[in-house]
Amino acid sequence: MGEQKSILIIGGGISGITTAIEAAEAGYDTTIVERNPYLGGRVAQMFKYFPKLCPPYCGLEINFRRIKQNPKVKFYTLSEVESISGSEGDFKVSVKVNARYVNEKCTACDKCVEACPAERPNDYNFGMDNTKAIYRPHDMAFPMRYVIDEQACKGSACSECVKVCKYGAIDLDMKPSTVELNVGSIVTATGWNPYDATKMENLGFGKIKNVITNMMMERLSAPNGPTKGKIKRPSDGKDVQSIAFVQCAGSRDENHLPYCSAVCCMASMKQATYIRDKNPESKVYIFYIDLRTPGKYEDFLRKVQSDENIEMIKGKVAKIEEDGDGGAIVTAEDIVGGGKVHQKVDMVVLAAGMESALKNNGLVSTIKTEESSFAISEGQAAGIYVAGVAGRPNDVTTSVQGATGAALKSIQSLVRR
Ligand SMILES: Cc1cc2nc3c(=O)[nH]c(=O)nc-3n(C[C@H](O)[C@H](O)[C@H](O)COP(=O)(O)OP(=O)(O)OC[C@H]3O[C@@H](n4cnc5c(N)ncnc54)[C@H](O)[C@@H]3O)c2cc1C
Ligand code: SF4
Ligand code: SF4
Repeated sequence: MGEQKSILIIGGGISGITTAIEAAEAGYDTTIVERNPYLGGRVAQMFKYFPKLCPPYCGLEINFRRIKQNPKVKFYTLSEVESISGSEGDFKVSVKVNARYVNEKCTACDKCVEACPAERPNDYNFGMDNTKAIYRPHDMAFPMRYVIDEQACKGSACSECVKVCKYGAIDLDMKPSTVELNVGSIVTATGWNPYDATKMENLGFGKIKNVITNMMMERLSAPNGPTKGKIKRPSDGKDVQSIAFVQCAGSRDENHLPYCSAVCCMASMKQATYIRDKNPESKVYIFYIDLRTPGKYEDFLRKVQSDENIEMIKGKVAKIEEDGDGGAIVTAEDIVGGGKVHQKVDMVVLAAGMESALKNNGLVSTIKTEESSFAISEGQAAGIYVAGVAGRPNDVTTSVQGATGAALKSIQSLVRR
């Protein structure tokens, strides 16, 4: 047997880091390529996890510690795979590593942020607030290293951050680089993006300020979010007293995403508990077509249903309109009670579906996908495997189980050669 090759994992969300850690702890070299400046993926943006309602960061922190302790896990952030050639046992992979402009000497002291005069919309909080051009990706980011957004930065004519950084951590001349990897097997763990809610014109997202998406709701509820965890109306900062959740926003709709996004019912019920816990007087309306809470999640459904301030209305939402005082009016058919419902609320949360991150991505020349853009789980070229939501929409537990399976398959691939 020749030299043992390593396993490449594309995407450093919970699935990708699980595959990497499991394979590394079995003794195999792994390399994660992640395009964000931090690892953790979408889970790093959540306030709480269903069904236990614990903070997702507990689990992520444990994984980050396992990565720090294990030299067999390497990772590149701000990076993307540019090309893949070769075959099982001998893939040649070209990875573009974009410039962070901040090196490993950064101590996260925050002095540069105080000095920087330029701002950018905070993508971690879905644009609900701004950061400076130099910023910490988020409070718990791993790696805990600042980064400069080159679109927002005023460049060397400014250099205010360089002047205040005592550690020599900022290099405004840093350039992107290309890393060539030779790996034995590849796992795609590219996950998902929220479906673009502006495409559902009848639901008002992008036109009505108090219509937000479910991922925005995660950030709005989190203590490290744009409102420090206070659930306030985006239009005027008023405390939210009444809220409507619109299920299947984009999902199970031939004009948008023809499939069920699997987790949005649970996500909305979880988010209903966010507002109910923070404001005992609040009233919640959940508009749904079918509630999908399989297996162990039925207990969570029952718990939510037992709250008399949470009303479940079976009916498809036809439209959402702005109300005179800044709220919104949700119009839906009430399939059980009959007739039309016009419900006035302070804020509406669209349970937007999950779209594969492989959509419109160059990786699809190597990774085979279905029409939906999710990767097929059986029938990939030898040595290529799929983990987590890259394969289909799912919760974290199922994603992690699949990611552990992908670790085993990618090890078997190495051993075969
Ligand atoms: C509103 C909402 C709430 C949710 N709440 C819960 C919950 O409470 N409990 C639960 O179990 N599940 C929840 N989920 C589901 C959960 O988000 C997913 O199960 C989880 O994100 C799957 O992890 P993943 O690693 O497969 O994908 P992701 O989290 O999407 O991670 C994929 C990673 O790959 C990176 N990437 C993508 N493309 C590339 C590329 N080309 N090159 C390099 N890197 C790339 C991304 O930047 C990202 O970091 C929720 C989902 C939604 C929509
Ligand atoms: S780049 Fe320098 S000033 Fe900014 S947080 Fe890091 S060490 Fe502090
Ligand atoms: S050089 Fe860029 S990042 Fe540094 S202070 Fe100026 S604008 Fe901010």
